[in-house]
Amino acid sequence: MFKIAVIGTGYVGLVAGTCFAETGNDVTCVDINEEKVKQLSEGKITIFEPGLEVLFRRNLREGRLRFTTQLAEAVHPAELVFLALPTPPGEDGSADLKHVLDVAHELGKLIHSYKIIVNKSTVPVGTAEMVRSAIATHAKCEFDVVSNPEFLREGVAVEDFLKPERIVIGSSSARAIEIMRQLYEPFVRQGNPILVMDERSAELTKYAANAMLALRISFMNEISNICDRVGANVDAIRRGIGTDSRIGKQFLYAGIGYGGSCFPKDVKALIKTAEAYGYDFKIMKSAELVNEAQKRILIEKIEKHFGGSANVKGKKFALWGLSFKPNTDDIREAPALVIIDELLKRGASIAAYDPEAMDNARKLYEGKIIFVAKDYDALVDADALIIATEWNEFRNPDFNKMRSYLRGKVIFDGRNVYDPQKMKQMGFEYYSIGRPTVD
Ligand code: NAD
Repeated sequence: MFKIAVIGTGYVGLVAGTCFAETGNDVTCVDINEEKVKQLSEGKITIFEPGLEVLFRRNLREGRLRFTTQLAEAVHPAELVFLALPTPPGEDGSADLKHVLDVAHELGKLIHSYKIIVNKSTVPVGTAEMVRSAIATHAKCEFDVVSNPEFLREGVAVEDFLKPERIVIGSSSARAIEIMRQLYEPFVRQGNPILVMDERSAELTKYAANAMLALRISFMNEISNICDRVGANVDAIRRGIGTDSRIGKQFLYAGIGYGGSCFPKDVKALIKTAEAYGYDFKIMKSAELVNEAQKRILIEKIEKHFGGSANVKGKKFALWGLSFKPNTDDIREAPALVIIDELLKRGASIAAYDPEAMDNARKLYEGKIIFVAKDYDALVDADALIIATEWNEFRNPDFNKMRSYLRGKVIFDGRNVYDPQKMKQMGFEYYSIGRPTVD
């Protein structure tokens, strides 16, 4: 059993804290957001993440998990202090380390016995050194700083955390590495590796992973755009290349671009890191440009269908899906938001539905678009349906009901959820990504 403090109780901190408690550790989570800490302390979960609530409630009830706004209260007894703080893009796109370094300075003043400060936030190369020197400015005891990037995916975060494909530990301290190994042992019992490396490589590993995934998405989106022009089908191509074991099946789906709190900001930050070291990271700059354009690809298709931008004015659109991907309530950088903004700019109206993300979307769009309680309600008298997130419940709907509710029997599917042939037979005009429209 380790005594652990987790600083920052968002998607990463809450999952990490809960899962560390689940393996028997004593965990105190800290957040500056008083309302969040109050809710969590009362047993109310603050994010939607499948499987999290059961573990959260159990560990809270059994006293292994608690929440506070007081850094000192969590840090004093802790042997390990995890930083799960935001690292948003600064004005120039590089990662803003303010939250991480502010906390590091505070930690330096608070610690009186050996502690391992573990950086779980996604941070640029060199951050561990900066955290170390921020702490050392004030600290009067020994401590180690370890880089331990987090690879969990929102939507399957609990599963990812409890059974990670790998753990990356960046450190040169034998003492810290041994404790980190002991902490993570229960999570890799099936044999997945704990990879120990130098801290700079650990920091860069996280960016390299996200950049590679973003690259695959942008690559397939460009292939889909070529498909649209030459009359080929991106789904067939996906299967055709995914069966090649050198390529693999995952992350080959064309769509309306990547979003979320990680890929966009991490791609930007990596480009900036490269720039800071005198390197022009051309391929990632292109991936980013492709992604920005791809978020607007449905708008192009909508304008073409209605005969120009001016004709979109006054149209009513049903929008299914607001979150940046299914199984999360996270709407940060979601393609749906770009679609909403572009349609509102053109004078269209929108009725939106999402199974989990509507509360978050309301904070941005209350009074600007209509939020409906059930998916089919959005369709009533709409000129077209737009699908922006491939939630399971959209996969096999009652097409007859859809047709009867929609005024225009038109669907713009940004996630290739339906079969174009079937949609044609059902009497819809159906547009998807990189797949021929059936006439
Ligand atoms: P988040 O915004 O969901 O949560 C961050 C939390 O930190 C918030 O609750 C905020 O109130 C709190 N906070 C801010 N300043 C604080 C302070 N000084 N003291 C205490 N709490 C403070 O962020 P997240 O999605 O959990 O991401 C955290 C880090 O992990 C980022 O660097 C991100 O890139 C990385 N990461 C995120 C994911 C993901 O899927 N969300 C996956 C891997 C890595």
